[in-house]
Amino acid sequence: MHQKQWEFLKNKFDNDQLSHAYIFEGPDQLGKQFLAKEFIKYIHCIDSLKPCQNCVNCKLIEKENFPDLLVVRSNASTTSLKEQVDNMEIDISQIRSAQNFLSYKSYYGSFKSMIIDNADRMNVEAQSCFLKQLEEPKGKTIMILVTAKPQMLLPTIFSRCQAVKFFLASAGEIKKYLESKNVTEKKAEYLAELSEGKPGRALQFLENSAALEHEQKTLQDLLQVINSDLATKFQYVKKLNLEEGGFNRIMEILQRYFRYLLLQKNGILLKNPAVETKAFTMGQIKKIITLIEDLILQASVTNTSPKLALEILLMEI
Ligand SMILES: [Zn+2]
Repeated sequence: MHQKQWEFLKNKFDNDQLSHAYIFEGPDQLGKQFLAKEFIKYIHCIDSLKPCQNCVNCKLIEKENFPDLLVVRSNASTTSLKEQVDNMEIDISQIRSAQNFLSYKSYYGSFKSMIIDNADRMNVEAQSCFLKQLEEPKGKTIMILVTAKPQMLLPTIFSRCQAVKFFLASAGEIKKYLESKNVTEKKAEYLAELSEGKPGRALQFLENSAALEHEQKTLQDLLQVINSDLATKFQYVKKLNLEEGGFNRIMEILQRYFRYLLLQKNGILLKNPAVETKAFTMGQIKKIITLIEDLILQASVTNTSPKLALEILLMEI
């Protein structure tokens, strides 16, 4: 994917013609930031097949722990909406520390690199500060600005960087990419169609659809078990892996299901024949929901065995 852009950059580096600053521009979810990091790996990889993904440098760059790389991004991962909006900006203090980082000598005597993700989030102050950095480039430095909104950058910044444009990928390219991640052909084709040229979106679908499919399969198994005799129930619990959060995942699936039944009983949701099981009265459903909540709490604060807790629940249903 983005083969032309990749070849262009590799060629520049191999021929010692790198510019100090690039702007990777193009719609969201194309993999611009991904490619920026891959390129930094290419510069620093110590294997002959670059980037190998396995050498110490590749691994440190992937984790953004490489001493000669700084990734600047706005911190929008907080919970409150107000904080999120406030933190959308990349402010001048972040650019100042970036300048500070770039002013030190390279740890490995090679390139100092900086990636600014969503560079359009730099406020005007930050952009003016960054402009100074561009005006006096120092030694072996490469700065990559990643943005889907290049028009938000000062024209003076734009004119001092080399733009690398990214375009929507073809469905065929995305399909091939997904297949390289062990996705079956049919599913890759389907996801490629859904993702409208954006590999990042295809990956999102992939992650969610896997989780969704898994949950549906588990629920189907559980419903089947609920309808069978005690021996089958115990047999089922015995085979389950309830470690590492497995217990909570199963309890949450059941919790969602019974809350869903409750909403149906109350006429809030339409009956969905796909998830029908034996008939429960309103009272039974409420009792089961309370029991699930109790058991989750018990398992989290006492040393109740998760298997025993699930057995208790299945006996009651
Ligand atoms: Zn490597």
